[in-house]
Amino acid sequence: MTDFTMSTDADGVATIVWDTVGKSMNVMNQQGFLDLDALVDQALADDAIKGVIITSGKEGSFAGGMDLNIIAKMKESAGDDPARGLFEGVMSMHAVLRKIERAGMDPKTNKGGKPIACALPGTALGIGLEIPLACHRIFAADNPKAKIGLPEILVGIFPGAGGTTRLSRKLGAMGASPLLLEGKLNDPKKAKAAGVVDEVVPADELLSAAKAWVLSEPSIVKPWDEKGYKMPGGAPYHPAGFMTFVGASAMVNGKTQGVYPAAKALLSAVYEGAMVPFDTAIKIEARWFTNVLMNPSSSAMIRSLFINKEALEKGANRPDAPDQRVKKVGVIGAGMMGAGISLVSALAGIEVVLIDSTQEAADKGKSYTTAHLDKGIARKKVTAEKKDAVLGLINATTDYAALKGCDLIVEAVFEDVGVKADVTAKVQAVTGPDCIFATNTSTLPITELAKASNDAEKFIGIHFFSPVDKMLLVEIIKGKQTGDVAVAKALDFVRQIKKTPIVVNDERFFYANRCIIPYINEGIRMVKEGVAPALIENAAKLVGMPLGPLQLVDETSVDLGVKIAKATRAAMGDAYPDDEVDEVLFWMFDQERLGRKSNAGFYSYDEKGKRGGLWDGLAAQYPVADEQPDLTTVQHRLLFAQTLEAVRALEEGVLEDIREGDVGAILGWGFAPWSGGPFSWLDIIGAPYAAERCDQLTAEFGARFKTPALLREMADKGQDFYKRFSNESKAA
Ligand code: NAD
Repeated sequence: MTDFTMSTDADGVATIVWDTVGKSMNVMNQQGFLDLDALVDQALADDAIKGVIITSGKEGSFAGGMDLNIIAKMKESAGDDPARGLFEGVMSMHAVLRKIERAGMDPKTNKGGKPIACALPGTALGIGLEIPLACHRIFAADNPKAKIGLPEILVGIFPGAGGTTRLSRKLGAMGASPLLLEGKLNDPKKAKAAGVVDEVVPADELLSAAKAWVLSEPSIVKPWDEKGYKMPGGAPYHPAGFMTFVGASAMVNGKTQGVYPAAKALLSAVYEGAMVPFDTAIKIEARWFTNVLMNPSSSAMIRSLFINKEALEKGANRPDAPDQRVKKVGVIGAGMMGAGISLVSALAGIEVVLIDSTQEAADKGKSYTTAHLDKGIARKKVTAEKKDAVLGLINATTDYAALKGCDLIVEAVFEDVGVKADVTAKVQAVTGPDCIFATNTSTLPITELAKASNDAEKFIGIHFFSPVDKMLLVEIIKGKQTGDVAVAKALDFVRQIKKTPIVVNDERFFYANRCIIPYINEGIRMVKEGVAPALIENAAKLVGMPLGPLQLVDETSVDLGVKIAKATRAAMGDAYPDDEVDEVLFWMFDQERLGRKSNAGFYSYDEKGKRGGLWDGLAAQYPVADEQPDLTTVQHRLLFAQTLEAVRALEEGVLEDIREGDVGAILGWGFAPWSGGPFSWLDIIGAPYAAERCDQLTAEFGARFKTPALLREMADKGQDFYKRFSNESKAA
């Protein structure tokens, strides 16, 4: 069985059907390219064939993209000269696509050749759009669910099979920029409006429309193969083109802070490629693509954001237990979190009972879903029927009896042991023995809360992040007695609501909050030391953190910080290490600068709540020192504060799998995505350097930077995390 097959009809139109064996959506691999190449050769050589249609055998989709595992393997297996191996591999993909594009035309006169149309039944991503772009006309079925685009940039690479060069020549640098630089996906109609596809036709006319075009003796020479081709919007030395490229450079640097190699390389490929003939431009694209693939950041991003994220979503760490998909969920507490949890559950088709202590509060929680759906209707993404169906799944009530028949409870009431215990008992008086009880607590130990349950084996933490509908990560926390079925239930639920799970053990702040708190604290500590707040914030952003630590405090609120500090101090007693942080935090609290919610925090805000610059009043209390640290020192303090906590979480067994540590860090709190996560970052800089740097930071700034024993051992042995804790097996 091969992924590509060809048949020719009585009118001489050959149809090449792509149908990846054993997958629900087509993905391209090395063999696939060879098969496609052979069929194109055959079609071009056969005089009986007048033209070709390339389409998919999958209903509703053309292709999901390249199998990125293969790119990773290509690099590993390229031997002593991986860059050359990669470049040659990429050029061989170009050769196939260029053959399609030239379709047997005379290289000098552009005469001859056979029309090749691409017919997209639906979704066409990555190489799934790069192949169509090499064809002479792209037909897309009018399938509003389809997504068409080049999302490579989102996993740290860029479209490297000609998509970058072809799209920028087809649309101009300006038109192509959201598609290439942001990975923007469009439905077929929008893709046509943007100029990406040429025709949108009813699904049942897709092949006939493509065939009619093939038989119409169309002109098939691509504009860039014609004499005198000019790039739409102008090439770099055209006045308009000059403006575009200058703007694009600034935009890319503004958005990526220069830490994402792929965005810069992409822009270079477009810029340099725009000034030379197409075949040279393709080589330039291939060289930049190789450059990106050789960058450790790209492999780390592919590994965390594509390969491992997907593995975790598919249940890489799911215990062996029967299907635990949720049919009816009870959400207790209809506040900010409960409202969001109800929304994502109902959107996944799960029946929801949403309980609060008053009917008004329960209704308010449900109205969050109404508002979400109304927004969808306004944007034409949701129909009135869908709205009714989703709202019909949510029963907002104060009556615990409605929980009868629930197979999962997610409790999201106030963060108070007594309130939670009371609710647990009330729920379990109604639910059956098989019902799994999950708490959404962010700070209380699961094992303690489980004491209120009549069955600690069926008690678990399912920790969502706020806002629930936007945040992709869910942290599942096992209490000391949590059983496998509860873990499987939580994982199956997370899969239903299409989020990414990590499974961790029960220690203070679990994993994500445990790592983000030291980051915030390090930022505040530097304020106390007299480091310029602007340096702290910009250092964080320049190393790829989405928010500086001070802005993060403003977003999550100073009073929450004070509350957590007080609780932590109470729990740790004399061992509490953060007095200096608290001094600043408590002072801000006393000034009633609580952050965004009070329109005043480390930043200033206008009356409408728009954030302005850093608050200048801070300097009166914490003057900026005359001598400032260098940028790298500030960045290392901020990154190591998080990373060492992740290593300690691994050492202590809170984390059982470094893949979860990396994916969870990026999706949970935005840990510098270019690095692939804290463990990938340590692998990039190497354990010996990391340990040496920790020693220096410890000497200069204190014991919180002490090299963890695991890292020291790995430094001594010259190991890295991904080799030591292999992808397949769980971490020790
Ligand atoms: P919230 O104050 O917005 O909502 C709590 C809701 O619980 C309120 O509507 C309240 O009326 C209801 N409630 C209180 N006692 C009740 C009872 N006995 N029976 C029924 N309903 C009751 O709080 P929130 O921000 O949604 O947080 C809820 C839980 O989620 C807390 O445990 C919190 O730590 C956790 N959490 C919060 C966040 C966050 O960012 N806000 C993130 C992760 C986890």
